[in-house]
Parts: sequence; C-alpha cells; structure tokens
Amino acid sequence: MGVVDWLRRLVGGRTPVDRGIYYYVRCDKCGEKIRFRVDPLWDLSPVYEGEDQASGYVVTKRVVGQKCFRPIEVSLTFDRNRKESGRSVTGGHLISAEEFAAEEP
Ligand SMILES: [Zn+2]
Repeated sequence: MGVVDWLRRLVGGRTPVDRGIYYYVRCDKCGEKIRFRVDPLWDLSPVYEGEDQASGYVVTKRVVGQKCFRPIEVSLTFDRNRKESGRSVTGGHLISAEEFAAEEP
C-alpha cells in the first residue's frame, strides 16, 4: 500500500467500487436501448431446492424506457457462484455493450 493510498484510507476518502453488472436491452416495440444494473450482492434472491445452501440465484428486473414506457421484464438466473446461467426477456431482448454504444443508422 502506497503512501497516497494510506492517506486516502486515513481520511476515509475511499473510491467506491461499483460491483454492479450492467446489462443492455432493446425494447421490442420502439427499439429504445436501455441500460440497467444488477447488483450481485443485493439484487439476487437465493433459490433453494431442498437444501440448506442456495443452489442458485434469480433476479427479475422491470426495465422501463423513456419512449414508450412499456415495461421490459428481464429474468436472470445465476449458479451458486453467482455466475450467470440463464436469461429470459419479455418485451425486449438483451444486446451487447457494443450494440448499446453504437450509433443508430
Ligand atoms: Zn419501448
């Protein structure tokens, strides 16, 4: 740990680390691209299958854009290591970060 880091810690000025995972969806109706964030610690609900330990996690997000206000429902499933294992989207579809950033033709 360098002196600067030590001083920073001393004054409590830590840089917050964003642990969120960002996803990008496109609305099937109006084509709007919307970004949303999943917090792997707060948003995930454990799934129990007769075990004491969670066998996986699930998160459902309702994403609403600015254009048509039609909610897009995104369900993501994660394994017990909080790695994504499945996704389903109603009212839209997931796109890549590159697609999200690309200029519309
Ligand atoms: Zn829309």
